[in-house]
Amino acid sequence: MDFQALNASTLGDYLRTLPVITELLGDMADLDIAEVGDGNLNYVYFVSSRANPDKGLVVKQALPYMRLVGEGWPLTRHRSDREAHALRRFGSLCPQHVPALLHFDSAQSLIVMQRLGEHLILRKGLVNGVIYPKLAEHLAGYLARTLFHGSDLYLSADAKKQAVASTTNSELCKITEDLVLTNPFEDHPNNVYNPALPRGTVARLHHNPALRVAAAQMKWAFMNQAETLLHGDLHTGSVMVNQRDTYVIDPEFACYGPMGFDIGLLLANFATAYLSQDWHRAQAGTDPAPYQAWLSEQISQLWRGFSQEFLALWGAHDARSGGGFMGAARDADSLAQFRASFMQHIFSDALGFAGCELIRRTLGLAKVAEIANIPDDAARAVFDMRALSLGEALLLQRHQITDMDQVLRLLRNTRMPPP
Ligand code: ADP
Ligand code: MG
Repeated sequence: MDFQALNASTLGDYLRTLPVITELLGDMADLDIAEVGDGNLNYVYFVSSRANPDKGLVVKQALPYMRLVGEGWPLTRHRSDREAHALRRFGSLCPQHVPALLHFDSAQSLIVMQRLGEHLILRKGLVNGVIYPKLAEHLAGYLARTLFHGSDLYLSADAKKQAVASTTNSELCKITEDLVLTNPFEDHPNNVYNPALPRGTVARLHHNPALRVAAAQMKWAFMNQAETLLHGDLHTGSVMVNQRDTYVIDPEFACYGPMGFDIGLLLANFATAYLSQDWHRAQAGTDPAPYQAWLSEQISQLWRGFSQEFLALWGAHDARSGGGFMGAARDADSLAQFRASFMQHIFSDALGFAGCELIRRTLGLAKVAEIANIPDDAARAVFDMRALSLGEALLLQRHQITDMDQVLRLLRNTRMPPP
């Protein structure tokens, strides 16, 4: 069948042609199909059978343009090949944190996956001040396993190079290169920002040579450090949670890149959740401090848990293979030094990418809801400036900062009087 853009009325007939879906849903006579409607790039549908309403699945189709903008922003639909591949790969490494891929039709750019029926987008839960007891532990485990197993620390040199070649995702990487790592740092028509943000603040950032250099270094790292297979868009809108589980969805930006990229994006989004609590809890008439303390603990635990598990995977793999990346004849000191410098390199990259993410979510095209939803421009500008000042500090100090406590201190110290 030639490619066909499906919709809520035509999707049913397509699904009825697939035995695997009939097996999953049971009675296919009467299907409930609804578009979710909050995706940026693609069309996502919830599908269930009226006869078995508790058995549902999710269908995601990529059309040859960006859903949010329409045909004015063309994008090949082959991003869904990248997403299906990454769902398979990450799902095989972390089945407990990745929705199961049930069917993939490359000709229709269509993915059928497990529906997370009792889970909420993490960003929404964080705005509402919900505590998820296993969150940092789960995300740390997901990051350690996915980042380790895509790298030369685990794969043979040949398998790694084949993996780099077969996961090329230039079209979506270009979006990151432009919208995250270039345009927010220049005066560019793609940028959209709060009219109440003092022009002097924006001009100062755009004319700060050290910041421009740091952003260019991060862009270079993103484009050239093919360290591991990344999720590529790991913000809190790509995580679905409940009290028991944590799932990472939407890996269509997956590509080889620096390990610090996924970690940095998550850190930045935890930071905007933290900052915006001052507003959201004030609206609810409650004290933001307890939830901010929990968020700070998540940030610390995320890095601590990630580094412990990553090093454990590394050690176990070296022991099993009787040598590993450094070869068999290394001494314990040089191995320890290499590992420490390796983790510090990931850490400083993570801080640099977190800085880029904070700045692009303030000055660039795409915003984070927890700040963008503050309706009053002047009130929102306070949070915008806090995000910018933290982003700038992380980018500029990424090589000097050695632990997460320093990051948390910077986060707390972004508090400033209203403009
Ligand atoms: P896009 O690539 O267009 O951004 P997403 O993959 O982020 O699309 O999906 C859009 C929305 O659909 C998500 O925010 C979430 O609400 C919902 N969604 C996506 N995948 C699932 C899933 N497996 N189970 C339940 N809901 C999902
Ligand atoms: Mg998405």
